[in-house]
Amino acid sequence: LQSQHLDAPKIPKVYWNDIGGLDKLKKELLKTIEFPIKYPHLFKNSSFKRSGILLYGPPGCGKTLIAKAISTELNVSFLSVKGPELLNMYIGQSEENVRKVFESARASSPCIVFLDELDALAPRRGAAGDSGGASDRVVSQLLAEVDGVTYTDDADTSNFVFIMGATNRPDLLEQSLLRPGRLDKLIYVGPYSGLEEKTKVLTALCRSHKLRPEVKLDDVAAALPERCTGADLMQVVSTARAAAVRALVNRLHSGIVKENELNTDSIILGVSELWEGVQSFRPSVT
Ligand code: ATP
Repeated sequence: LQSQHLDAPKIPKVYWNDIGGLDKLKKELLKTIEFPIKYPHLFKNSSFKRSGILLYGPPGCGKTLIAKAISTELNVSFLSVKGPELLNMYIGQSEENVRKVFESARASSPCIVFLDELDALAPRRGAAGDSGGASDRVVSQLLAEVDGVTYTDDADTSNFVFIMGATNRPDLLEQSLLRPGRLDKLIYVGPYSGLEEKTKVLTALCRSHKLRPEVKLDDVAAALPERCTGADLMQVVSTARAAAVRALVNRLHSGIVKENELNTDSIILGVSELWEGVQSFRPSVT
């Protein structure tokens, strides 16, 4: 693993307010991760151990966003790697890469390790063959690291490492990774459905934009299909923003605004811009 491929762990800047909806999930996650981080002494001498959790579900539904927000809200560093990035054709190098990730996490603890596309790194043993996928040795190394981070009797926040795995295909995962004490809590993160949930996500996505007062995000949500991923909804908002920028440039060209008045505050999303976003909608789920 080239050191430039492994970002140094750091505290992200994604807040709960950046995540729309998912209220129950946020509470459940905080309860699962916050207690051992904040009150490690309560877990001393306890037979209860957990190395991490697994977030699963289709792409673009918020797994990465949630993992970052947990780190921000708990003020712990965040180390993110994608499973395939750790795989290397040279014998022994993939295992070494896995080892380095956890070494880096321990050096920055308390730390959350986000292992995205975990199925590539830990496919069911015996399933990968010699096709260039992860070998059984890589899976064994990962399991050893997973067992190693479990907080023990001398747990304190200075050596706390917690794993958040993510996959679109939990069925392809090495099942021993999900045994009690390892990533034994599975949480589904799926598409957003219903007017209320979609409106909440749109509201979160629009937090960093100026909206005209007549914009009603629930009308926007109602015009979209019943089920949307977060990435779909983000696409609607970014298309609307691009339309707002275009409108602003047109106003500049027609002399309605002056060059020195152009700034990000003058980019305002109105009904017609959001409607353009809705029109551009290409669903990634049905
Ligand atoms: P993948 O499996 O492809 O890694 P993912 O489940 O990790 O996908 P994210 O990258 O977290 O998905 O989300 C995709 C985009 O959708 C993000 O840029 C994020 O801003 C947006 N998004 C997803 N869920 C929400 C949400 N609840 N509120 C606001 N934005 C969201």
